[in-house]
Amino acid sequence: MTDHSTMEEAAKRIITLEKQRGYDDMAVTCGLEEFIRLNLPQVLSVVSGYAVQNHFTRQRTIAALEDLLEGRSAPSPNRSSIDLHLPISQADGVGNKRTAIMEKLSLFTIEDLLTYLPRRLEDRTQWKKIAELRNGDEVCLRGEISMIDRLQIRKGMEVIKALINDGTGTLAAVWFNQPWIIQQLKEGERIDLFGKIERNRREWQIKSPVWEPSGAGIEIGRLMPIYAATAGITSRTIFYLIRRNLKLYSQAISELLPIPLQRKYNLSSRRKAIEQIHLPISREEFEAARRTIAFEELFLLQIGLAQSEGEKSGSAHTHKSNGKLATAFLSALPFQLTASQQEVLTEIIADLGSDKRMIRLLQGDVGAGKTVVALAAALYVIEGGFQVAIMVPTEILAEQHYLLVQQLMKDLPVTIALLTSNQRDKVRLKERLATGEINLIIGTHALIQEDVAFAALGFVIIDEQHRFGVVQRSLLEEKGEKIDLLVMSATPIPRTIILTLYGQFDISTIKGMPLGKKNIRTIWAPVSRRNEIYSDIERILAEEGRGYVVLPLIEESEQVDLKAAVQVYEELQHWFHQYGVGLIHGRLPSSEKMATMTAFKEGKIRLLVATTVIEVGIDIPDANFLVIEEGDRFGLSQLHQLRGRIGRSGQLAHCFVIADPKTPEGKERLAAFTTHLDGFVIAEKDLAIRGPGDLIGTQQHGFWTSLRAVDLIRDLDLMRITHVEAKIAVKVGVPEIITKAIKHRFGETLNLLQV
Ligand code: ADP
Ligand code: MG
Repeated sequence: MTDHSTMEEAAKRIITLEKQRGYDDMAVTCGLEEFIRLNLPQVLSVVSGYAVQNHFTRQRTIAALEDLLEGRSAPSPNRSSIDLHLPISQADGVGNKRTAIMEKLSLFTIEDLLTYLPRRLEDRTQWKKIAELRNGDEVCLRGEISMIDRLQIRKGMEVIKALINDGTGTLAAVWFNQPWIIQQLKEGERIDLFGKIERNRREWQIKSPVWEPSGAGIEIGRLMPIYAATAGITSRTIFYLIRRNLKLYSQAISELLPIPLQRKYNLSSRRKAIEQIHLPISREEFEAARRTIAFEELFLLQIGLAQSEGEKSGSAHTHKSNGKLATAFLSALPFQLTASQQEVLTEIIADLGSDKRMIRLLQGDVGAGKTVVALAAALYVIEGGFQVAIMVPTEILAEQHYLLVQQLMKDLPVTIALLTSNQRDKVRLKERLATGEINLIIGTHALIQEDVAFAALGFVIIDEQHRFGVVQRSLLEEKGEKIDLLVMSATPIPRTIILTLYGQFDISTIKGMPLGKKNIRTIWAPVSRRNEIYSDIERILAEEGRGYVVLPLIEESEQVDLKAAVQVYEELQHWFHQYGVGLIHGRLPSSEKMATMTAFKEGKIRLLVATTVIEVGIDIPDANFLVIEEGDRFGLSQLHQLRGRIGRSGQLAHCFVIADPKTPEGKERLAAFTTHLDGFVIAEKDLAIRGPGDLIGTQQHGFWTSLRAVDLIRDLDLMRITHVEAKIAVKVGVPEIITKAIKHRFGETLNLLQV
């Protein structure tokens, strides 16, 4: 060790000298490369070829060597023993500051870094001669620096301008406020550039291009991986970090997939796949690497799921009932169930009547009429002597459901109660639950977070499942044994996800809408047209319309968001006070929320400013307009949910989204939202645009971040294959290394997925 650090010190002195001498490779008599070969062989790859490099490349080599030696982790001589699960702070080039940034990207170990996959490839392989350039080209160029200059354009604005000549013409490369560049470029040197070409007055220009010494081939002349970055780090830096650490650690990447599987499905070795996904020679190579990694991810996940499936007990209570209560309930409704609703109800009741445990997903677009179906099923269970719990994601929705259910069941011998966290005096309520006096309880997650005990809980209904994490689901089930479970999702869940995650669920789907097709016009307008939108709203209000203005509110910036909501409310109050303007958000006391909702229902308030608390389930049939402010801050499914609040009785309704999206994804999202009204199509689009994310409410558990390579649209076949192979693997016995990997990658999450 002492030896090693002495050598490092020596190397650092040589570096200093070498720089002073202007990179003539004379700082040490044997030459730098030889010195390193003899004394610090573990970093030899960095300096290989130093003797024959030009001045310019040497400069870079030395910088790289310096980085490595200053680096927080001097590479150990025995790399194969390196543990890829070492904390990210041990990665080469990652110090304290970067550790924090890396962790923001969910990169906690060196392996996480190496498997942080690019989101796309940028094609930097198109070479052009200056004479062939066209305005707007994004190309690679190679030429000699014929002149370089530094210009002070105005105070605080300095430009480095280099003229590049490639024998067919001249082009000006310019960099703004990056004075150090002048030290790195020298007249007469040959460099490669990549960037967008512009015709500026009389000359070809390339602004802030990527550049490197001619032929380096690191960032230019290749397919460049582009990574999701975050504040404090660019995709380019991530690329360099990965590249450096791949050099150091790739030997330590061990195989996970059994070799016969690799052969059978034509997969690469793990090490090769990881190397190639970051440094692909071709798109084909990249795709092959991605597929290998996706296979591995899905295989591990499916094994985890298969292992947990065994623990799911198969039997449940058999609910005996002749359906009197349910029939009474249905016949008292002002409408008849549609054929599709009826069909679904029959499926559910068949499950409830059997001794097999029901695990069923009920899906249907917003407004498809899931609630009444679920309530009829609940009554079936209640008649058989068991209690039913309905869990919904927000307090307002719980209250609304509670009022609705009370109203719908007022003539039935059923005791109904509401439980939310804001409620006072819950002691008595809990007693009544524990004695079995209460038949049907409606509540938020308070239902499971608190010490609620049931006398005989037989059936749990989870509404708007997509808003819950899976945690709550499993916790709720701890409240009783052999409980039947019905999960309702208003955001249709794409088939691919069902296959992967809801493999254990039976699916019922309500098709069509009870009240016919929705008639909603959606308009997306930039912020600059906000006033026009509100003139439209004024017109709608004047014609007795009623609707919502919704603002985003996210927890991390709740204070700011709430302030904005209040501000918009005051502004609209000022303009539209004659129509009645209200404000509702999650932080208000529930009595106030209730009062506001009632006033809105009765039409005393006609314009309701809301944060996303109204997102799900709220059912005010008369509402016929919706303005979504800062629409780019919502996910596509969320937007669709919001739009589900209006036009609920089939009347013409207007939805306005005000947004200036800054990213291409944001634009795509809004374009999809304006063109599609069908929730199933929206869900597929959503998936395609941004990946699964919180579509299924598991994002907070980092579940999908563990599936980095999987393309849920394209990899349908992989899901099927891995499903089958995982089952086989579990039967035959899963190797320790795979069990470990599953635990490391999916750990907790997997426990939560068990139902
Ligand atoms: P979701 O599936 O989004 O939860 P709801 O259950 O809230 O939808 O139903 C939407 C509206 O449609 C409610 O007002 C409900 O009373 C009404 N509804 C449900 N089924 C029917 C039906 N068969 N005919 C007419 N209206 C119905
Ligand atoms: Mg609903």
